[in-house]
Amino acid sequence: MKIIMLGAPGAGKGTQAKMIADKYGIPHISTGDIFRANIKNGTELGKKAKEYMDQGLLVPDELTCDLVVDRIAQPDAAKGYVLDGFPRTIPQAEALTAALKARGESVDYAIDVDVPDENIVNRMGGRRACLACGATYHVSFNPPKKEGICDVCGKELVLRDDDKPETVQKRLDVYHAQTQPLIDYYTKAGVLRSVDGTQDIDKVFGDITGILG
Ligand code: ADP
Ligand code: ADP
Ligand code: ZN
Repeated sequence: MKIIMLGAPGAGKGTQAKMIADKYGIPHISTGDIFRANIKNGTELGKKAKEYMDQGLLVPDELTCDLVVDRIAQPDAAKGYVLDGFPRTIPQAEALTAALKARGESVDYAIDVDVPDENIVNRMGGRRACLACGATYHVSFNPPKKEGICDVCGKELVLRDDDKPETVQKRLDVYHAQTQPLIDYYTKAGVLRSVDGTQDIDKVFGDITGILG
């Protein structure tokens, strides 16, 4: 099962992608997590990506597409995967379509987690992230068992640099300009499914499993 998560920053893509990955036994591939891991490890890619991420801008397609095409060719992705945060531009979607087509494959579902901008700003201020394992929490909507500590791996949780209100607004603008057109792209491809992302986390997941079966 090859699944793409679409939706604004903070819509709940990562939260749902992790639950999908666990339920269906497929890898969760998050380009944001990959970039943050590279930043943490001080790689060349991390240095370049950070310049864009800190400003709320997208990392250029040249630095992003090959990375994902290589990742989905790994053995653990043979039975499928859930892509979270990729594609984010039309050229990225076209690169993915071409890479899959070369192997006689295509995306099965593009799940749009729909949340209006007004709700996003609240969510981002309360988001806490584990940079070690990629888990995310919310101080009120989805708190960790122990304040400030990741339930999954025990590491300390942080407020991401790009979750500050000034940057969140920029990221929303970028989303509307560059990523939202993908809804049309995947509607035309016949694989778009929308879910109401303003519901509770478990309710959203119920809608998604209703779609995936
Ligand atoms: P969010 O959880 O808000 O959706 P992500 O963790 O997916 O954020 O991404 C954080 C940042 O990493 C983005 O604002 C962008 O700078 C960069 N990024 C992640 N995925 C991509 C991508 N597919 N193309 C370009 N930039 C990306
Ligand atoms: P994305 O990957 O789309 O940027 P996340 O999954 O990281 O989004 O969720 C953004 C924030 O909102 C996190 O703090 C998360 O715990 C919280 N969150 C996710 N889904 C919901 C929901 N359905 N209701 C309320 N808060 C949510
Ligand atoms: Zn963790």
